[in-house]
Amino acid sequence: MDPGTATTIKACEAIIELQFPVNLNGKLEVFTGWRATHSTHRLPVKGGIRYAPIVEQDEVRALAALMTYKCAIVDVPFGGSKGGLQIDPSKYSRDELQLITRRFARELIRKNFISPSTNVPAPDMGTGEREMAWIADTYKHLHPENLNYNACVTGKPVHHGGIRGRVEATGRGVVYAMREFFRHASDVKNAGMDGGLDGKRIVIQGLGNVGYHAGKLLDEEDDAKIIAIIEKDGALINEEGISIQRVREFINANNTIKGFPDASFTENGKALLEMECDILIPAAMETQITGDNAERINTKLIVEAANGPITFEADEILKNRNITIIPDAYVNAGGVTVSYFEWIRNLSHIRFGRMERRYDEIKGQHYISALQNMTQKDMPDWMQKGIIKGADELDLVRSGLDDTMRNAYQELRDTLETNDKVNDFRTAAYVVAISKIARSYIDLGVY
Ligand code: NAD
Repeated sequence: MDPGTATTIKACEAIIELQFPVNLNGKLEVFTGWRATHSTHRLPVKGGIRYAPIVEQDEVRALAALMTYKCAIVDVPFGGSKGGLQIDPSKYSRDELQLITRRFARELIRKNFISPSTNVPAPDMGTGEREMAWIADTYKHLHPENLNYNACVTGKPVHHGGIRGRVEATGRGVVYAMREFFRHASDVKNAGMDGGLDGKRIVIQGLGNVGYHAGKLLDEEDDAKIIAIIEKDGALINEEGISIQRVREFINANNTIKGFPDASFTENGKALLEMECDILIPAAMETQITGDNAERINTKLIVEAANGPITFEADEILKNRNITIIPDAYVNAGGVTVSYFEWIRNLSHIRFGRMERRYDEIKGQHYISALQNMTQKDMPDWMQKGIIKGADELDLVRSGLDDTMRNAYQELRDTLETNDKVNDFRTAAYVVAISKIARSYIDLGVY
């Protein structure tokens, strides 16, 4: 690639910093937020908005760049963006958060940093369906004439234009990626393991949206053993396996993991990143594995469910120690993939499967009747059910997500196999992403 194209790809095109006051119970409080657009080689640009006390401008720019690469890796035709608001959401009531979110959204909409055709946010750390619904509603009030107002943000509740399967999408995508990895015996062998996911001993950091959904599937569908869960107030350990669902219910009721029965508790959660296990899934936040602890990480495979959990320095150390890493830019792209499906659904103004589901069911019924007629045998009930069932929206979303994660894995693998200079999945992911983005710049030229 020529240096000019490389520099163009590196550059973050725009970033806006906003400082806006909100009247909270008669007192004015000023909040600081950002939205960065990394690359508009595809429009709209896409990326979450996070609410966190430590968010800052460089982080938002870096995460916007990661979104560009992520979209390219999973063939989602969007550029990259990211937003952040410096706030500890746990310190504010629901009503206060609504006022703050609506004001932040209004500022971003007015300055063209949110719109269905150019910049479409999504949830991230500290935000969820509720905040996305407020943002969509704010956009609708400012632009009621825009037929596609619902497409200005994704991750909305299903009854407000969201799509079934979006909430679980990132976590589910993480598991689809892991299943694809385990379908390739040579990749599993290179990581010093054999067999499938069942019985694998897993440590998860962060039981929020991503960690919970990934952990629940691994625990309940793949028969993996979650031997430790690291949360912000400590960690739970049980070599026999911990039920993710029960821990989630315990957190919902008690706001802590401390006191959870059926597992021992330790205050020093971060130390458990070093616990011996087969698979480590950091699913909380960035810079968790650094130069300080990378030498002591005792796992065979790290699945980067969170964004940027491994620093550059740590990455070098882990690579030298032959620990396999499935990188964030690929592994947590399930969220943006299903966001893409939601955006399409909003633009088409119809739920996926609405037109064809019953038709497919009738067709299935005809196949069964024909088969039974020809063979003069009754088809077992379970077989009939499988043939008759027409795909609903959730089936289609999960199928599209699985297909996307599998295809992207194949591309990373092909790159690893065909390019001698590429020896790890992270480099493969960047080679795939940057090649696609560069091709787009080279084909179109610079406007
Ligand atoms: P979340 O806020 O729902 O969950 C984060 C969880 O981590 C919470 O349970 C929190 O208590 C825990 N946590 C916070 N600090 C911790 C610490 N120091 N140690 C252990 N646990 C800690 O956030 P999320 O949406 O699940 O996002 C998690 C990560 O995944 C982030 O890096 C985010 O950027 C990334 N990600 C999220 C999505 C998505 O769709 N939500 C998509 C792609 C990437």
